[in-house]
Amino acid sequence: MARYIDAVCRLCRRNGEKLFLKGARCFTPKCAIDKRPKPPGQVTTRRRRRFSDRALQLREKQKARFTYGMMERQFKKTFQMAEKQAGITGDNLLVLLERRLDNVVYRLGFADSRSQARQLVMHGHITLNGKKVDIPSTLVKEGDTIGWREGSKKSEYYKTLVETIEAKDVLSWLSLDKQNMVGQVVTLPTPEQVDAKFDGKAVIEYYSR
Ligand code: SF4
Repeated sequence: MARYIDAVCRLCRRNGEKLFLKGARCFTPKCAIDKRPKPPGQVTTRRRRRFSDRALQLREKQKARFTYGMMERQFKKTFQMAEKQAGITGDNLLVLLERRLDNVVYRLGFADSRSQARQLVMHGHITLNGKKVDIPSTLVKEGDTIGWREGSKKSEYYKTLVETIEAKDVLSWLSLDKQNMVGQVVTLPTPEQVDAKFDGKAVIEYYSR
């Protein structure tokens, strides 16, 4: 499966804002955008750059794609799925992105970032309704349970996580049994329950050209 392997902080700097791609580091003074807010490769200039509508739409689309760690082809496929559904395409897109298994693992606090969550899924540590699922793009449904494979519970990562999970909160559309480390999709998310990091309307306009 193709994935972005360059330094992810460049993506934030290129977009001019924090996309929170590196977990705990994003909240420390080590965050690259706090240290060097200019886009990578840009030299100091007095002229303020003006962006065309197209450039701004592209920026919103890229922001959404980078936030969920997806390649263009997969992101566009998700957008096309959202378009076919009834309702507002931008909202549908947000809900589909949130329903990805790697995102849910991240939202449950099992990982510090979506990229770490994707690794956990791909390495077979995560179960969906009691069965191992190693495809990060799997869409969860209402009532689904997300847990850990028995063998993975012996890992140092899991043992540390058990000690720190108590301090973590989950979004209202999810629940987490911290004793057993099992999460559940209580209901599918609504756009209001998710803190959208992109403008869905701009993404629609980008793809409608
Ligand atoms: Fe972005 Fe996080 Fe890197 Fe800061 S530390 S630039 S928020 S990925």
